[in-house]
Amino acid sequence: MKRIFKVLIALFLIAAIILAFAGCKKDEGIIKMGTNAEFPPFEYVENGEYVGIDVELAKAIAKELGKELVIEDMAFDALIDALNSGKVDFVAAGMTVNADREKNVDFTIKYYNASQTIVVRADNEDIKTKDDLVGKRIGVQTGTTGYDLAMEIKDAVVNSYNNGLEATMDLKNGNIDAVIIDNFPAKKYAERNSELKLIEGEFEEEQYAMAVKKGNKKLLDQINKALQKLMEDGTYDSILEKYSE
Ligand code: GLN
Repeated sequence: MKRIFKVLIALFLIAAIILAFAGCKKDEGIIKMGTNAEFPPFEYVENGEYVGIDVELAKAIAKELGKELVIEDMAFDALIDALNSGKVDFVAAGMTVNADREKNVDFTIKYYNASQTIVVRADNEDIKTKDDLVGKRIGVQTGTTGYDLAMEIKDAVVNSYNNGLEATMDLKNGNIDAVIIDNFPAKKYAERNSELKLIEGEFEEEQYAMAVKKGNKKLLDQINKALQKLMEDGTYDSILEKYSE
């Protein structure tokens, strides 16, 4: 009886060890991307699937690294914490490189030039430049560079939203006077809404990059190498083109 017990315990331990190893192995073949899939055309959900420029770029990078891409969708302002806590391996979220973020993460090479755009209702005759935003009600997505810019505008009332779509909805409903958001998403929202129009070229250029945990030089180098290749061999351009239609 005792012996059977011992054998059973030994078997159980062996099984546990094998499972643990299998688990590690499985993890090794996976790379986790953190994003906020509410930012068309860079990342969004279509027919229940994650699509967009960053999504396709990340898939191509994962392929270069011989890994399977797993996407973790979360609030934009939760991404840097998720990176630092190890919940995700890298972030691809139309994230602008800025000095503040550079203190907390390491950025890859830059892959897209963007600029913040002002969105107003098509019948708005009042707002023509950023100076006209003084004292206005402005909608932005929480934790974005658009939020930072809105906070600098004198006497503005700044409303934060979970995503750009909610902000533009509130704009259409007349609850706010303008939205400040990245140019490409702004264009996508305006294309679908004839009640909206864009005021472009009012803010400085920004650059998007992917991010890894500070000090994760190995992954940073791997992603950079893959990105470089995809930009040189035309893959990046064809992805961009596909989402520009
Ligand atoms: N580019 C902007 C930023 O980095 C917005 C990004 C986003 O909303 N996904 O803050």
